[in-house]
Amino acid sequence: MTHIAVVGAGAVGCAIARALVRAGHRVTLIEARADVGAGTSKANTAIWHTGFDAKPGTREAALVARGHRLLDERASDMNWPLERTGAILIAWDADQQGRLDGIVANARAVGYTAIEPLSVDEVYAAEPHLGPGALGGLLVPDEGLLDPWSIVVGLATDAVINGATLLRSAPVTKVTGEPGAYVLTTGAGEVHAQWVVNAAGLSSDAVDRLMGQDGFTITPRRGELIVFDKLARHLVQHVILPVPSATTKGVLISPTVYGNVLLGPTADDLEDRQATGTTELGLTGLLEKGGLILPELLEEEVTATYAGLRAASEHSDYCFEAFPGHRYIRVGGIRSTGISSCLAIAEDVVAQLAESGEIATPLQEPVTQPMPNLAEDRLRPYADPELIARDPAYGDVVCLCERVTLGEVRDSLTSVVPAVDMDGVRRRTRAVAGRCQGFHCGARVTAMMEAYRG
Ligand SMILES: Cc1cc2nc3c(=O)[nH]c(=O)nc-3n(C[C@H](O)[C@H](O)[C@H](O)COP(=O)(O)OP(=O)(O)OC[C@H]3O[C@@H](n4cnc5c(N)ncnc54)[C@H](O)[C@@H]3O)c2cc1C
Repeated sequence: MTHIAVVGAGAVGCAIARALVRAGHRVTLIEARADVGAGTSKANTAIWHTGFDAKPGTREAALVARGHRLLDERASDMNWPLERTGAILIAWDADQQGRLDGIVANARAVGYTAIEPLSVDEVYAAEPHLGPGALGGLLVPDEGLLDPWSIVVGLATDAVINGATLLRSAPVTKVTGEPGAYVLTTGAGEVHAQWVVNAAGLSSDAVDRLMGQDGFTITPRRGELIVFDKLARHLVQHVILPVPSATTKGVLISPTVYGNVLLGPTADDLEDRQATGTTELGLTGLLEKGGLILPELLEEEVTATYAGLRAASEHSDYCFEAFPGHRYIRVGGIRSTGISSCLAIAEDVVAQLAESGEIATPLQEPVTQPMPNLAEDRLRPYADPELIARDPAYGDVVCLCERVTLGEVRDSLTSVVPAVDMDGVRRRTRAVAGRCQGFHCGARVTAMMEAYRG
């Protein structure tokens, strides 16, 4: 049994840890922050990408396409909400209209053939609230919505219940030893491992250097987003995409599985790897663009704003490479599509280890634990009379905006990978994520956190 240290517990690291442990390896998953999924994986646009617009021939193109299918296959066992809303890509001027055929050709080149042209009338029939001026578009029927929060917590939970050790608040600061016998110095003590997998997101270049490599440099690309109230949900049925540019997929409008509407993201290259605040300039620009696409959206209330940092590098593909001689796998620079591709990346990591001769005996009976439901398209605990009859804590609504119950907050604090702070409770339950942003329920959730932490 090979002992593998996975550095970074975002979507990618958690997916890799889960796949490795199920494949029969011994795994330590090491996270710098207090919680899993608290980096880029918590702050993105939550689109379930098909990869139709990825660059043909890249690892990213293949992994997003495969990852899209794998998420679909796992969703029901894991109770992950996926909504196949479809996306509509819209041309707003003659130049963009002229690029639609190229986008169709690109989609076919990466193996996605379900894309189809839409006339102006079809565009407005599909999205009646669009602003004037659309010239035509494309339908991408398999794009959709995902829930990044329960995907990450679900993957981490799966890894742990099947045998992985999870270390949190444990930044890896030094790696010594040699291939096959590494010693990682972490905030939670030393970890001895034969292999290291680097899934450290925005710090994947720094961890690469700790491993004696120097393959790439991360330049964070910030994306700011605006979350509109649930009353805006009727305005949009699909993911509404712009014609992408060379550097960004552009500003989109999308429903969320939680019943809100998102507008964003921006794309700004930065030096600062901590700059996850929003800016007046960014939000003003988004409102201007959003008002042209869906004018009525601007009449709706804003619930929240946030920003995430894409781990962009100088390469136009993921920095995903195995170094068998070094017993090291680099999984860095997973920029704009990593939630969609994470299960495929994990599958590839297992295959690369096997190719390097690290064969293990897969678990005969891996355990699967479905995640609590966070989505609006299925029954939530507060509305489930049978559940409430069994446990009245699910009938006691703590967060009125998001209708989150005492039972759900309790579960988030006592689960296999429990929340350790308010943000962790939010991502496991939706409490404090609603209209009042915790004004009503914050004190009660804080009291519960103190009670369960002892
Ligand atoms: C604005 C925006 C929109 C996006 N939209 C989408 C989308 O719609 N669909 C989609 O599929 N993807 C989307 N993405 C991309 C997606 O969010 C990322 O590709 C994905 O979250 C990357 O996951 P990760 O695990 O590589 O990184 P992270 O989630 O950042 O995880 C890396 C982890 O490593 C930890 N770490 C770092 N250094 C160390 C160390 N030294 N020791 C221990 N731990 C360490 C960090 O604390 C962090 O938790 C978007 C991204 C952004 C920013």
